[in-house]
Amino acid sequence: MNASVIKDTGARAILPPFSEEHEELRESVGRFVAAEVAPHVDEWEEAREFPRDLFNRCGELGFLGLKFPERYGGQGGDLLHDAVWIEELSRAGGSGGVAAGLNAHAQIAMPPVFNFGTSEQRERWIVPGIRGELIGALGITEPGAGSDVASLRTSARKVDGGYVVNGAKTFITNGVRADFLVCACKTTEEGGHGGISFLVLEREMPGYEVAAKLEKMGWHSSDTGELAFTDVEVPAENLLGEENGGFKLIMANFAWERLVMSIGAVGAMRRLIETTVAYALDREAFGHPIGKFQAIRHQIAEMATEAEAARAQTYDALRLFHEGRDCIKEVSISKLLTQRTALRIADQSLQIHGGYGYMREYGIERAVRDARLGPIGGGTDEIMKEIIGKTMGL
Ligand SMILES: Cc1cc2nc3c(=O)[nH]c(=O)nc-3n(C[C@H](O)[C@H](O)[C@H](O)COP(=O)(O)OP(=O)(O)OC[C@H]3O[C@@H](n4cnc5c(N)ncnc54)[C@H](O)[C@@H]3O)c2cc1C
Repeated sequence: MNASVIKDTGARAILPPFSEEHEELRESVGRFVAAEVAPHVDEWEEAREFPRDLFNRCGELGFLGLKFPERYGGQGGDLLHDAVWIEELSRAGGSGGVAAGLNAHAQIAMPPVFNFGTSEQRERWIVPGIRGELIGALGITEPGAGSDVASLRTSARKVDGGYVVNGAKTFITNGVRADFLVCACKTTEEGGHGGISFLVLEREMPGYEVAAKLEKMGWHSSDTGELAFTDVEVPAENLLGEENGGFKLIMANFAWERLVMSIGAVGAMRRLIETTVAYALDREAFGHPIGKFQAIRHQIAEMATEAEAARAQTYDALRLFHEGRDCIKEVSISKLLTQRTALRIADQSLQIHGGYGYMREYGIERAVRDARLGPIGGGTDEIMKEIIGKTMGL
């Protein structure tokens, strides 16, 4: 079929749940990321971290506080503004590591402090966090407890005026340079679902140690730390929410974290498809652009189809979450679908780039490495299937 007879100008309508105002933000985030993030990604990946200044710069531009109220220095927006930021950071930036570091702070560590914290705690960590002056991390995973969150062993023993914390956390994004760690601890002998509490640990507390900066397959420009706590004295005012009520906080946080990962994958897939189409039109073999071979054209059509389906699912789960409706099943489906799809699309994109895809220069091999974390982090594929199955009464 001749392309000229297919009537589609390429101009897309605004998709729900977004509005005109969100689309304006999308453009300004895209411009910022293209100008101030993307050109430096190779260098930051090589250095194994992006500069701390990037937190300050994003804070200065208001991107770390989009959903927080103005009285704490935020922009007074909502989760949809954050969703736009997350998707465009991923699409225009092309670095899972940069997105992971910024999101671990603004999307994963700050929300529980804001949602469960007192106004004094918000002043201490949210206000400077929004400015990018303090960096946060969330510490749940331990060397012996990942998917089975309730089996964590880091303990907080109650003493006069607070707690004494002993234990270790691993795989913590921003763990090396975080100023504060929102840390899950066992506050009863038995621990388990009813015996977990969250304490905010601060890096200068005696006994708080960064035990290792971990080397990993992808996400090179983010730091991933292993932390050790030896008799760390934590004052009672650093308890977040109710004592022994931490499991509720974990569950509340997981829904948004999984949406953040889904939205990030939507952005990454858009980038991969745009890059692949451009390459397929440019690269010639046997006298034709490779994109004109039906095999390649069909493969890209399938990639676009899968990416659109994943995006539709994610936007729908986002809409439900934003409206405050039950959506554990929909969020888990989005997480499962987007992470596997993004990994597959990254690999197909690499194949279409041929040998150049395997070279660092095009950023495609990085996309494959970065995408591999998706089916593991924030709850593995297997755990998503468990949750989806259980919501269906199985
Ligand atoms: C780069 C990176 C960054 C991370 N950042 C953070 C962070 O900032 N904060 C944080 O707290 N954590 C973080 N994590 C940890 C991440 O959330 C865990 O790796 C993840 O939850 C899986 O836990 P695990 O690695 O211990 O695997 P395990 O739980 O040991 O699982 C191993 C395998 O067994 C499977 N499995 C486990 N239970 C079941 C079951 N019931 N049924 C079927 N299969 C099962 C899993 O799906 C997996 O395939 C990060 C991890 C990485 C790699």
